[in-house]
Parts: sequence; structure tokens; C-alpha cells
Amino acid sequence: MILAIDQGTTATTCLVVDEELNVHGRGYAELPQHFPQPGWVEHDPHEIWRSVQQAMDGLSYDAIAITNQRETTLLWDRGTGEPLSNAIVWQDRRTADRCAELDADFIRKRTGLVPDPYFSATKLEWLLQRYEGDLAFGTVDSWLVWKLTDGAVHATDETNASRTMLCSLETLDWDDELLELFSIPREVLPEIRPSGADFGAGIRGIAGDQQAALFAAGGAAKATYGTGAFVLVETDRDAEPGVLRTAAARLPGEQPRRALEGAVFVTGAAVQWLRDGLSLIDDPRMAEELATQLPDNGGVYFVPALTGLGSPHWRPDARGLITGLTRGTTHAHLARAALEATAYQVRDVLETMAPIELLRADGGMTRNRWLMQFQADVLGVPVEKAREPEQTALGAALLALGERRASPAGELFEPRMSRDQADSLYSGWREALARTLSSSPHAAQR
Ligand code: ADP
Repeated sequence: MILAIDQGTTATTCLVVDEELNVHGRGYAELPQHFPQPGWVEHDPHEIWRSVQQAMDGLSYDAIAITNQRETTLLWDRGTGEPLSNAIVWQDRRTADRCAELDADFIRKRTGLVPDPYFSATKLEWLLQRYEGDLAFGTVDSWLVWKLTDGAVHATDETNASRTMLCSLETLDWDDELLELFSIPREVLPEIRPSGADFGAGIRGIAGDQQAALFAAGGAAKATYGTGAFVLVETDRDAEPGVLRTAAARLPGEQPRRALEGAVFVTGAAVQWLRDGLSLIDDPRMAEELATQLPDNGGVYFVPALTGLGSPHWRPDARGLITGLTRGTTHAHLARAALEATAYQVRDVLETMAPIELLRADGGMTRNRWLMQFQADVLGVPVEKAREPEQTALGAALLALGERRASPAGELFEPRMSRDQADSLYSGWREALARTLSSSPHAAQR
């Protein structure tokens, strides 16, 4: 019995699974976020640990697997184990100016990432400018290992390390030039182990949430549809600069493995915005009913650049746009346009990444069957839903079991639309996207 702890941005979820991945127990505890200033997003490290303790309370198991929100940065005292400040969450933008100074080519070649406040390096640099002592840095996984081993082990896994912007993607070790660039002393850093290694206290596997979901997809192309969408595929190939390169999980004894990753910031969040910002729908489920009612999109496109655009554009300055409005446009067209935008953005990422034959899908938005069918149509490849929605937890459990295999598949959606029709819809999206990119504040400088 493996206890898989999924420590996420808004909650901790625990699953207890057996070797066949049958679920025998579940736990859940919310985690508050703190917003002390505009653009700042924090967690209290004590609250992170408490949410994990609550979520695992009463569950019995033989070994532990950890998967976690990535990039979130913590600093604590080695002697007392006390955090020096709140954790700086991946969403936090406080180091945006620092990132603008960095050499994008160098960062990309060395780490596979783009210089963005999203990653840990500039967050840790910011903390180390303010706190001193006998310090330990960690992402959320390291903090949980520290707590679970009572301070005996200070370690992280390769997938989490590869998101810090301090780790060489080639050697999968801390990189001296990067440490110098961000003035990080090696002593504060955890030891890096392969994802399937032993971490002490019964912890037999660790991976960042997206790499864990990729492991559960057997390394094949997968998209997780939630607030945003994360598209990953395991490959050693390089890609165009719009997508990231990152470490994939490996079992002990295996060679290092790497993946391409595209992060789309707003997918389900656009549906939430239709509900909370515009009051056009009462529930995300309504989007599906409304989309189904329409024979077509009526020429309406919605580019949901509500928090800038991530992969493959990386344009924090971009703002949202709705095009093609007529007297006949209704709330149903906007709902449909929000769902269509999810599928188009995933195609944008996959086109810069790799040709694929099948896309595995998981996450809360996959409940929307209309979206799954439309995604298959727009891509022209089948989309296969995972049977269990908690793919991150299952991926971590498979790591701890030492087994490289895909978790059970669910419903399959075959493309039904003609390629001509799909391409004509997609070119409408590309036009709307081009207008968004050229009308955003920093467009003139580019
Ligand atoms: P996260 O893990 O990012 O918090 P989830 O995987 O729980 O997200 O998915 C929640 C997101 O999915 C929300 O943004 C919500 O708007 C969207 N969502 C949930 N159900 C549907 C649906 N039936 N149709 C469209 N969007 C949905």
C-alpha cells in the first residue's frame, strides 16, 4: 500500500493505492494562500505541513510517495527547523524586474527554462538578500522530506531540481555558474536524487506534479487541463524556444530522462472568469451545455490572455481579446469560445513541440466531453482520458512501486471533423492571437 501525497497550490490530496493502482483510501485538506501585496503569492510553511498531516490522518500504508506544486521556494534554519519567512509560491511575480535582466539564451541552454519569476532561482536570491544564518533551501518536496524525516534528510528529486533554474539539465546537478549568477552558496541546497530513489522515512518516490502525471501517462504526450493546461512529452529532443525542457522522472538504475513542457496559463480559469467576472454562467458545467447548443462558433474567438501568455509565446504583457462580435453573439458564443480557446492553445503548444499520435488527458476540465471531442477534432489525433482523475498521485505511486507503466485508460475520443474544417477554425484562432500579440503594451518594443 502506497500513500501518495499530492501537495498542490490550493490543497493537499492523499490517495492510498495498491500495486494495481486500486484506491483504498483518500484524504483532503485545503491550503490557504496569502497575498500580502499585488503580484505576491505566499504559503505559510507550517500550514503546508499541517495540510499534509490532516490529509494523511487516519490512512494506513507501507510506503510514501510525494508529488508537489513545483518551483515554490522555502528557506528554513538547519538548527531549529524553523522557516525564516513564508514560502514564495510559483505564481509570485515579485522578481519580474530581475528576470528581465537575465541572458535568456544562456538560461535556456543551461537549464531548458526561460528567465521568468515562475522559477525558484530569483525567489531564493530575493530571500537570501534578506535573511542569513545556517540556512536550508527547498522546494515543497524537500520541506516535506525534512519534516517527515525529522530533519535527518535534506534532499530533492531531479524533476523538482530542474525547475529551480539552478540545475544543469545536462548534468542534473547544481550548476556553479548559475549559483554564482544568483549568489547562492552551495551549502543551502538540498542533495539531488533520482525521482525513484529512497528518501528516508519510507519515502520511495518524489516528482513534481506535472512530471508525476507524465510518468502516469507512461511518458507519452499528455495534457492536464485545470486552471491552466500543462502539456508534456518525454523526449531527448530539443524544441523551439517557446516550450521548456525539463527533467522527467526516472527509476533507480535508469539513465537520465528528459521532457518537453508547455505551460498554458488560462484554460479552466477562463471558464471561471465567465462565471465570476462576467456572471454569464452559474457553473463551469454550463459551458458544455451552451457550447453544444450552437451549430458553430459564429466566428467568435476569445484569446484568454488574462494573466499574459505562457507557452509558446511567453508574453507577460499580453491582455485578453474577444473578436468577431455581431448583433447575433450571445453568452453561448462566449462560453464556446472559452472552451475552443483551451483546445487551440494546446494545439499551439503541440505544434512547437512534436508530432504525436495520441494525447492523454487528465484534470478537472476533462469532465467536459464536448471539449475532449473538440480537442481531438482540432488536433486530428485521438484524445484518451485517464480513468482516474488524480493522475499526479498515481504517477507518484507508480514511482514508489518502482514500475514504469501507464495508468489505466478511460474514454477515447476519435477525431470526427474534416481536416479542412479543423484547419479553417484554427486559422481563425491564429488571426485573433496575432491581433492580441500586436496590440499588447510591449509589442512595439519587440
Ligand atoms: P486545478 O487542479 O488547476 O485547481 P482542476 O483540475 O480541479 O484544477 O480543474 C478545475 C478547473 O476546471 C476550473 O478552472 C474549472 O473552471 C474547470 N472545469 C471544471 N469542470 C468543467 C467543465 N465541466 N467544463 C469546463 N470547465 C470545467
